[in-house]
Parts: sequence; C-alpha cells; structure tokens
Amino acid sequence: MLRIAIQNKGRLNEQSVDLLHELGIDVDSAKRKFLSKATNFPIEVLYLRDDDIPQVVANGTAALGIVGMNEVAERGCDVDVVTKLGFGGCRISLAIPKGDDYQGVEYFQGKRIATSYPAILENFLREQGVVAEIKVITGSVEIAPAAGIADAIFDIVSSGGTLVTNGLKEVERVFESEAVLIANKNLSAEERELLDELLFRIESERVSRGKKYLLMNIPTSSLDEAVKILPAMRSPTVMPLAAEGWCSLHSVVDATDLWEKVRQLKAIGAEGILVLTLDKIIP
Ligand code: ATP
Ligand code: MG
Repeated sequence: MLRIAIQNKGRLNEQSVDLLHELGIDVDSAKRKFLSKATNFPIEVLYLRDDDIPQVVANGTAALGIVGMNEVAERGCDVDVVTKLGFGGCRISLAIPKGDDYQGVEYFQGKRIATSYPAILENFLREQGVVAEIKVITGSVEIAPAAGIADAIFDIVSSGGTLVTNGLKEVERVFESEAVLIANKNLSAEERELLDELLFRIESERVSRGKKYLLMNIPTSSLDEAVKILPAMRSPTVMPLAAEGWCSLHSVVDATDLWEKVRQLKAIGAEGILVLTLDKIIP
C-alpha cells in the first residue's frame, strides 16, 4: 500500500485529484475524508494542508506527496523530488512600492521585507550579500508596505494583479515553482515498485498530451512523401485498401501541427482525413 499526501483544499487540490484520476486511480473526491483508499490501485490518499506535506513525506507518514516546490524549498525537508507535474506554476518575487527607483538588489540593504517564505528569502539575500530584516507574516503579505509594517515584500506572484492593486511592482524574480511529486527517501521495495508504476503512467500521460490520431486514404504513389510529412512513433501504419492504387495511412501528430500537416497531405492527394482525440500513448 502506497500512501500519498495531497492538499485538502486550495489551489493544488483539484489538479492533484484530477491527476490521480488521469492515472486511472479511482479515489472518491466527492466524499472527501482525511484518508481515503482507492478502489482499483493499492494507494490511499491523505488530505492535508500544503504546509504539512513535505514534513509528512520526510518522516515517512506518507510515502509520496504532491506539493508546490516552494513549500519543499521553504521547509527544507529531506525528500526526493521525483518529477515536476506541470501545474500550480508561480514564482516568488521581491516587490517594492511602485514609485520607488530600483537599480538593483542593494535597494534591499537595511530594509524590512515581509514574507511567508523566510528561508528562501534568507538564502537569496545571503547569496546576494544583502543584509535586511525579514518580517514573517502569514496571510496578506502584500498589504504590509501600505500598513507601514515593511518596506518591501517577498511573495508569490502568478499574474501580478495583486501587486498592482496594492501599489507595488515586482523587481526580482527569485524562485520559480510548480507542483512536484515528492517521495520519502527510504521507500520499501513494494512502495518503490508502485511508484515506478505511477511514474510510467505519468510519463504516458505526458507523451499523449496535445496529440491527435490522424487517418486518411492516400494514393499509393504519394506514400513516400506522406511518410516524410508524418513521422510517427516508429513510422506511420499503412494498410491496403480494396480500391487499387490506394491505401489507408494512420499516424499521431501534435495538435499544434495538425492543420499544417493536413494542408500538406491534401496537397499530395489525401482524402477522407479523420482526426481523432487520442486518449493514451503507452511508450
Ligand atoms: P493550505 O491551506 O493548504 O496551507 P495555502 O493557502 O498555503 O493552503 P494555496 O493558496 O492553496 O496555499 O496555494 C497552494 C500552492 O499553490 C502554493 O504553495 C503554490 O505552490 C501554488 N500556487 C500557484 N499559483 C499560486 C498563486 N497565484 N498564489 C498562491 N499560490 C499559488
Ligand atoms: Mg499553506
């Protein structure tokens, strides 16, 4: 049995549950409990606040976790970051009152900086040789300058809208984050095997994303050219048609290239082109 900790509510909850579903793991997210078992995979899901996830994985209460890289870095917990997951993207940046002149990090020398990420900030300031006063605030960090509690802030930014509303401007992007899968450093052989199975499924989801399955009829005389247009996993599948001089060609293409490929294929005589949504590619 593999136990995975995910956020119980908040920005990463829904996408974490969706990811498990995409991996074919049937967890009951509607009747969310503290701990719930999947019906079709030996995994149980532990729902926690994101702050607690790195710690719980580090001490082995859960074998795996899904959490923002920012939390992993801030807590300094000893876990393996197994893979990035491609959602929950954000950055942690330094921001100052928008009217202030900014020439470089020396601006922060002797300043008071409000943040919920003191460890990441301290590390950055040390690297830059800047000495500043770090004010730890949980909650609305962005109001600290207007409230007179701090001169600047170090906080999560995604679009930057919150900064503008609070009369601030982003001056240093310090830490790029996204959701990651983390693992305990001492997994049992059974847990390791289950993790490998999950990674295999994650990889196949990644490969399948944004791909389309394309099939068409094409004159046999155009086949060589069509194969050049359509590099598939090994090569496109070709099947003879009952009609003399024609064959059926199947391939997988990136959705972004689809219309360009269709144009080229029509130009060499392709007909009856079908574009199908692709569920999975198992590499
Ligand atoms: P919890 O109650 O679980 O402690 P929280 O309030 O600390 O939740 P959320 O706001 O739900 O955290 O954000 C969870 C994670 O989502 C962040 O740690 C970060 O990795 C990611 N994230 C992505 N975009 C943003 C954003 N615009 N603001 C805040 N977090 C974001
Ligand atoms: Mg939190």
